[in-house]
Amino acid sequence: MKQKDGAGLNEHLELVSSALKGNRRSLGKLITHIESGYRPKIPFFKSWTLGVTGSPGAGKSTLIGALASKWLEKGEKVAILAVDPSSPKSGGALLGDRMRMQGVNSSDSVFVRSIATRNHTGGLSSSIGPIIELLSASGWTRIILETVGSGQSQVRIIAFTDRILLVEGPDRGDVIQAEKAGILELADIIAINKSDIPTSKDAFNSIKLSMEYSDKNPPLIHLVSALNGDGINELLSSIEKCPKSDDTNIIKIRQLLLSAWDSRLLSHPSLNNMIDNINAGTITIEDALAVLSKDVNVGGD
Ligand code: GDP
Repeated sequence: MKQKDGAGLNEHLELVSSALKGNRRSLGKLITHIESGYRPKIPFFKSWTLGVTGSPGAGKSTLIGALASKWLEKGEKVAILAVDPSSPKSGGALLGDRMRMQGVNSSDSVFVRSIATRNHTGGLSSSIGPIIELLSASGWTRIILETVGSGQSQVRIIAFTDRILLVEGPDRGDVIQAEKAGILELADIIAINKSDIPTSKDAFNSIKLSMEYSDKNPPLIHLVSALNGDGINELLSSIEKCPKSDDTNIIKIRQLLLSAWDSRLLSHPSLNNMIDNINAGTITIEDALAVLSKDVNVGGD
């Protein structure tokens, strides 16, 4: 019997069994099937997830590489999901870059995969949970979801993780942007990276000061250098101690709901048609909404 993603049931079962035994090729293929709407039945495993977001160039990839090296030393298995809206960079190339950067050669314990924000049956937000479950069940003990901290869909998707790290560079303006995008509200920990550049200390002090006036539980702030390793042990320790965020967190629930809503809309089969019709003046936005808000058949068996 063919499934929604065109694969046979037996093929899926074999892939699941082989992925759970640690076969990376099967794991990669299965993630592709999940993106196309397949939902594997897998045993429940408690997952450990970290969302990492921040402006382009802030040093997220370098910092994740530095953290990954520390985790590998502790015997953890690190999976990195890089949510990338445009670049078709292959997981292999990304992995190579990061690990070369860190001088680490432990490819058996690292799995890197880029995930496009588009082309998911049911939207990225409906695929990300099953992908995380699959990775956990396959033995990956540190699952990192990396997004660029610009664009609402990117911000919202990290709300699916248990703890969130915001990475910014010495430019105070980037943090102001993060604040505007609502990331500061979500962040459990902030890392001001590039401490080897003198202005990062100013950015660090000014953010710390503004956080002191916040009435909520302010996030922990670290000044680090992903390049020379300063502050990385302390940051790692904060991440490890950070409790799984509260599922009753209203800000998070709001983001999750909006993310699911966006995904439904973006993956609606009639979306482009509706846009063309609005453009041609044959229907109004309200007419389009009436059609688009009808339920979408998201993936599943
Ligand atoms: P991303 O776009 O946030 O993933 O940033 P990258 O990790 O690709 O880093 C962007 C640039 O910043 C690269 O040229 C890195 O070498 C550099 N970079 C990353 N971390 C540091 C750091 O701690 N200090 C300095 N000086 N440069 C850094």
